[in-house]
Amino acid sequence: MRSHPASADYARHLSLIGAALDARITHPTGDPLPRRSTWGPALDVALPRRGLGPDAVLDEVVAHLIPNGMRAVDPEWSGWILSAAESSVLAATAAAAVTGPQRYLLTAYNLVEEVSLRWLAQVCGLDPERMKGIYSSGGSVANIVALGAARQWSYEQRGVDVAADGMAAAGRPGAIYASSETHHTVLRAAAVLGLGRSAVREIPVDHRQRMDVAALAERLTADRAADVVPIAVVANAGTTNTGAIDPIRAIGELAHEHGAWFHVDGAYGLVAWADERVRPLLDGLDLADSAIVDPHKWLSAPTGIGATFVRDPTILERAFTQEPAAYLAAIDAPDDVQVSVESMGIHYGDMGVELSAPARGTAVWATLLALGGEGVAARVREDRDLAAYLSRLAHEHPRLEVLAEPTLSITCFRYAVPATSPSDADALTEAIYHRLVRTTPYVPSTTRVAGALAIRPCFTNPRTDVEHVAGLADAVARIGDELTGR
Ligand SMILES: *Cc1c(COP(=O)(O)O)cnc(C)c1O
Repeated sequence: MRSHPASADYARHLSLIGAALDARITHPTGDPLPRRSTWGPALDVALPRRGLGPDAVLDEVVAHLIPNGMRAVDPEWSGWILSAAESSVLAATAAAAVTGPQRYLLTAYNLVEEVSLRWLAQVCGLDPERMKGIYSSGGSVANIVALGAARQWSYEQRGVDVAADGMAAAGRPGAIYASSETHHTVLRAAAVLGLGRSAVREIPVDHRQRMDVAALAERLTADRAADVVPIAVVANAGTTNTGAIDPIRAIGELAHEHGAWFHVDGAYGLVAWADERVRPLLDGLDLADSAIVDPHKWLSAPTGIGATFVRDPTILERAFTQEPAAYLAAIDAPDDVQVSVESMGIHYGDMGVELSAPARGTAVWATLLALGGEGVAARVREDRDLAAYLSRLAHEHPRLEVLAEPTLSITCFRYAVPATSPSDADALTEAIYHRLVRTTPYVPSTTRVAGALAIRPCFTNPRTDVEHVAGLADAVARIGDELTGR
């Protein structure tokens, strides 16, 4: 007899958690920042010798985790680029954890992986017939997978298989080109891929944080003269700092003229294609050799879901194959697959850096099934409208100023005090930010725009509405007045 038989109490346990989450959402704690000293001691305990049993776990989650988590479920939250998973998506994810614990084998989850990637490509303006996808844990890994494909392809053009023989066999150094506003995971990808962070050429941006294409052309030409292999050019479809969209078509054309792979980092912004007003800014996506998007950003999927799309998935297989494995030897039936365990389904495990992986597509499928194409478009449109509304409020206010106009759903602004030095302005913004998150429910994040510290709300939270945006602007103005004695 087993001493700890597995329980089958899903209905009761999930409904307990569900009730506690509903209560948390409808009755915010009101405490802007629960202090660690109040909840830490109850959790920071020694491993129990005898387990407390499943019900005790539920009690702990309800008592200590849910009330002391991130405030992302509250409408005043606009920090970084994240929001909380919705109930149907959470439920579908829970179902996958139990009945689809891997994305492989010919199961319904394996199929939903494929279907959801097709839908995701479609809402992001990528041709699902041309661009095939694979999920990973998020933009960090999605960029490694895309740039790994670029590296493989670039050196294959020169007769070298770097996946098999390593960068030492490559002979010539390579470079990746990206704007100075590019997410630093691109630098990390270059490090992981053996190219080195210094292989990333940071191209300057214009006054709206978009890549300077003339500067890119100069750098590509100079590197060509120095016999450097142009591995990839990266364009941002929505930078993390301000939501800027690089001139995609011009960059893609230039990349291809120089024989480089063209990668679009749309971790945050590619979903904005759903809003027709954004489409002209994303013109040129058809040139992309790869693109990434993070469903855990604007689509509110649970964290841990990014997608890489490439125009030729066989390059991914050459770059990332794990080679045949003995324990998988007898899986694939020679023909006539009859039951789900006779085929691995699509070989995702050979197309990226993970073998075991959750069936992440389930959450994306659930999200897109619930919203539909129109629902995604409405969400993007409304979030962008909130960012535009904040910009308008800041412009109309005598003591607020906009540092970066919204392109997508980010507005960078600050309390403006004329005739101060830049460092005084930054110190004031910092002081305002700390008082804001300590004494009000509002949680935006901060960033630097052309060197200046800014308050940076990013509206991707479907609970946020106009009154919360107005409330944020008012709170920043009021705290600024208090701190400057106006
Ligand atoms: C968030 C982000 C990333 C990194 O993605 P993670 O999911 O956090 O790993 C990369 N690029 C851009 C543009 C991003 O916004």
